[in-house]
Amino acid sequence: MRGGDMRGTLDRGVRGHAPDSLKAVLRIAAFGGVYANPYALTAVLADAAARGCEKSYCLGDLGGFGAECDAIWPLLARHGVRCIAGNYDVAIGRGDADCGCGYTSERDNHFAQVMYDHTLASTSREFAAWMAQLPATERVDLGGVDVLMVHGSPLAINDFLWESLSDDELRVRLDAIDGGRPDVLLCTHTGIAWQRTVDTTLIVNVGAVGRPQNDGRTDVWYAVLEVDAATECTPAVVRAQLHPVAYDWRAQAASMRAVGLPEPFVETIETGWWTTCLEAVPPRERSRGRYHVYRDAMPSPATLADGAGWADAPAVPHDGLPVVSLFGTPLFPARLWIYTNFDCNLACGYCVVASSPAARPRRIAADRFCALVDEAVAEGFTELYLTGGEPFAHPDIEALVRYAAQRLPTVVLTNAMLFTGRRRAVLASLAALPKLTLQSSVDGSSAEFHDAWRGAGSFDRAMDGLSYARELGLPLRVAMTQTPENRDDVPALRAVLERIGIAGDAFAVRPLVARGLAADVAVDGDGGTAMAVSDAVMVPELTITTDGAHWHPVGADRETSPDFLVAEGDVPLAEAKRLIVQRFLELRQADGTLPDAFHCAI
Ligand code: SF4
Repeated sequence: MRGGDMRGTLDRGVRGHAPDSLKAVLRIAAFGGVYANPYALTAVLADAAARGCEKSYCLGDLGGFGAECDAIWPLLARHGVRCIAGNYDVAIGRGDADCGCGYTSERDNHFAQVMYDHTLASTSREFAAWMAQLPATERVDLGGVDVLMVHGSPLAINDFLWESLSDDELRVRLDAIDGGRPDVLLCTHTGIAWQRTVDTTLIVNVGAVGRPQNDGRTDVWYAVLEVDAATECTPAVVRAQLHPVAYDWRAQAASMRAVGLPEPFVETIETGWWTTCLEAVPPRERSRGRYHVYRDAMPSPATLADGAGWADAPAVPHDGLPVVSLFGTPLFPARLWIYTNFDCNLACGYCVVASSPAARPRRIAADRFCALVDEAVAEGFTELYLTGGEPFAHPDIEALVRYAAQRLPTVVLTNAMLFTGRRRAVLASLAALPKLTLQSSVDGSSAEFHDAWRGAGSFDRAMDGLSYARELGLPLRVAMTQTPENRDDVPALRAVLERIGIAGDAFAVRPLVARGLAADVAVDGDGGTAMAVSDAVMVPELTITTDGAHWHPVGADRETSPDFLVAEGDVPLAEAKRLIVQRFLELRQADGTLPDAFHCAI
């Protein structure tokens, strides 16, 4: 057994005397979700015996997922395991048409039915009849501690007690118990172990024996409940420990393959990641796994053409699994934005992050920046976008850009106005980096249009800067922010840019967004011209600032876009990615829609 036990303790007041049959039993094992995995059950029973457990309880679901349901019965009998019924056992006992697992998604139900059909066909009628007489609950007094065992929850046999439920949601379940709240409530059904004390009840989800718990390890989990029995002077003390158990998962995988169970089920046994029945898993728990959405829920190429997703996204690989990870797909690009600073020589009227010469600079430190780039490489990001404020106002920008562009394709967004004096030499020194591209904003073919929102004199200086960058041989891109003033000037601007070598896909037009300094501009649909954005309608592009991690670069100023903040402080990129996935799933579950892309960069 490897490390990773999870422990919890609860002091109990004396509650009478334990019945004779349990007087000596102060340590019990509780497990559930055996799912026709005799190899794991054997290992768990051995582990429980080694830990001195004097009695074992099974909280139901003896079949499902694995191949050898009938192999479970003799193990339970030999070890004197007391069982209650899971929804699977009720269904198999009655010969129902489906498992009654409680899935609401069509895709989940498809996989559940495949599992159930195999289990029903391969379980002997004698074992099924035994399942049919199992009780729904068990309530024992363990050394003065009142312990209630259920399969799903006190509300229903197929109710999912996830860790992400709130205390109030758990109280609803506790208040549904006949005979009042117990000291300890043991349950299973979700397949993921956890424990928490709510008011005076220790709730323990004992996890599942039959398959790993979506954490990338092949181990399975169960619980040991220990009671220091009450004395005349001291109350009983109860502790729960959740234990991972290593077992012969190769034998289980081979047994599943031998009867032709689908490969995605076997993959879960071999990798520890869930590949089916995902929609029933709440966002917090699902975001911790490797896979997040069903492959057929991803936008089609036709949808992408309409603007949903990430234009340059690589095709989601066809690895034979029905599910995909969100990161690296059109719905969560492998593109990392880093705000190097927020101060800027300009104060454009439409600046989405309210940058200006007076803005709080929020300059990223060089060591933090380098650590972020290293994390980005390790976490599978394929592009870096450095923006601000004006990145070339950062005193260490040369070192930052060099470090980034030596490791990943890097785009620096700049207003191109500061390439004079020392910074002229800085840009020249960076020009040889093969993975570096500059992107700038030009809002019209002349100062009349460009300077309207960006300030007098900015057009001429920007064009000078772009011409210099072109002389250095730097790859250049330009985006125009569409305003009421310049909407008819696109062809003329395109011609101006072509004269300095910026043509085709290197030029794009993007909408004005009602954020930051443009927050008060009337939005489109209300007779205005600005686009209203939110995390509910935008594909996320993870963005890091000195304040934390944000949903998208257009909302990276926490003062004007607090709703886009995903996590505060120097959160690791792996955790920031998980939080993005969690929020994506929460938003998607709200109405089932997929967000559109908003392309800040070309
Ligand atoms: S839009 Fe760009 S150039 Fe204008 S104030 Fe904001 S960061 Fe500076």
